[in-house]
Amino acid sequence: MECPYCHTVGSRVLDSRESSAGVRRRRICDNCQKRFTTYEKVSFVPVMVLKRNGKKEIFSTEKLENSLRMACVKRPIKDMEISNIVEKIEILINKNHQNEIRAGKIGQMCIKHLKKLDHVAYIRFASVYRDFKNIDSFAKEVELLKR
Ligand SMILES: [Zn+2]
Repeated sequence: MECPYCHTVGSRVLDSRESSAGVRRRRICDNCQKRFTTYEKVSFVPVMVLKRNGKKEIFSTEKLENSLRMACVKRPIKDMEISNIVEKIEILINKNHQNEIRAGKIGQMCIKHLKKLDHVAYIRFASVYRDFKNIDSFAKEVELLKR
């Protein structure tokens, strides 16, 4: 943290407390001994989603939730269950500290969760995200689920 008076880096924290503006820290400069205050705010670094068409967009939990909801229409799935999947995926993405993720990878995570939750929703979602090459490969997947 650079001192606003002498611009040297190096200060000690005298006191810190939570405030509505973030964490307020009272500091003393190691060099000139003057005191100053800083505020720290938690900010999420946005994760970029790399789409199949090469475009990028900021990862949005809202969009993710919407696409899951579409796959779950008229299925006996609670809103909570969808929110849980979104939360799990969000945590996983943030935990990996990636600043970029392929859309396909997010799709795979959704597919994995939906498979456990509801087979119809899973097939709906997978048919969009997994690019079944033809009706045979689609039928094969359905056949695998039946077992
Ligand atoms: Zn100073």
